[in-house]
Amino acid sequence: MDGRSKVLVIESSYETCFQAVERVFATFPLEIKGKNVLVKVNALRACNPDREAIVTHPALLKAVIGKLETLAPKRIIVGDSVGTESYGNSQHIFHTTGLAEAAGPYYRNLSLNLKVVTVEKPFPRKVAVLKDVLEADVYISLPKMKTHGLTMLSGAVKNNYGLLAGAQKSWYHYHSEKPEIFAEILIEMFRLRPPDLVIMDGILAMEGYGPCSPDVRRVNKVLAAADAVALDAVLAHMVGFRTDEVPYLRLAGNLGLGQTDLNTLDIVGNFSPLEGYNRPVVAPESTYCYLSGVGGGKTSRAFYADRICLRPVILAEKCPAGCMACAEACPSGALKPGAPPVLSSSQCMLCSACMEACTHGALKLVPEEKTRRELEGRHCYRLPA
Ligand code: SF4
Ligand code: SF4
Repeated sequence: MDGRSKVLVIESSYETCFQAVERVFATFPLEIKGKNVLVKVNALRACNPDREAIVTHPALLKAVIGKLETLAPKRIIVGDSVGTESYGNSQHIFHTTGLAEAAGPYYRNLSLNLKVVTVEKPFPRKVAVLKDVLEADVYISLPKMKTHGLTMLSGAVKNNYGLLAGAQKSWYHYHSEKPEIFAEILIEMFRLRPPDLVIMDGILAMEGYGPCSPDVRRVNKVLAAADAVALDAVLAHMVGFRTDEVPYLRLAGNLGLGQTDLNTLDIVGNFSPLEGYNRPVVAPESTYCYLSGVGGGKTSRAFYADRICLRPVILAEKCPAGCMACAEACPSGALKPGAPPVLSSSQCMLCSACMEACTHGALKLVPEEKTRRELEGRHCYRLPA
């Protein structure tokens, strides 16, 4: 990467964030006219964004859309794929958080349009990812400012983990034995399609063991950069980490995916460490959520094991003949046409697209006993020696 990456740190509130957005677009001008623009928020799960710091606040999304509309794009799409507690519930989450209202006509359920790609790290594997993000002319990422129990930070790079649809997220959580291994899949998802612009909601930020910690901190800042890695390096500094304490930033720096040395960045604004920021303790292994079950068990390995056994079960009496919406959304051909469609469990990629697609309440994701038994007693996936 040539030159010094610039990172903006702007004082802001939800009432005035449209001014921050104006400044961001003036500092990082993008060719928007006639382009397909994709805006990805962090829509992890249902919450009240005025009191919890779990999702990108709708006010910031609204400000970004307002700005984009003045730049004559061909099309705007707004969306995300949801977190591990909420597979199949994208629409519900967008509505309950106010993100659907903010997105207006631009909201799209991104989990219904998937593409199968092969990633090499940490294990060679085919995965189903959000096709709309891959195919966007311009990709704008709106992450939430969070600390995180496993990855230390949840910021610009981690927002791309949402490219991985449904319970595939849990698959990697379960099988990545250490934070360093999990960092590899984060980086793979980042490399698939790095954002052209990141605008981070750091107005109401999350402290503690994210991504769903109840601890909030009013930081009143919007951070922005074209270099997502540089933005996260600044975020690390502000919450009290050295860059080399964050495994995915170490990896991103080593791979040349962005700049991580604060001394070589062009940082505009007050990026002083936030006093007493309640961040996870170093080193990650000691707080490793899979082993310790931080978060009421919802991030324990047992929780993730349950999630990766989920398979679609169709209630025949609710499934009208002829509707093939689930089979059409399935990226792997795991649902064969029929009345109701028939599942080939071994072909299921765990993406949850079928659940997102069924509008008749005929399909549920239920842990499959056979798969659960196969997992029992098995250790984490091991990298080849
Ligand atoms: S059956 Fe198909 S759509 Fe449903 S979770 Fe499996 S791969 Fe995804
Ligand atoms: S989408 Fe729902 S109603 Fe339609 S075929 Fe699938 S399970 Fe049946």
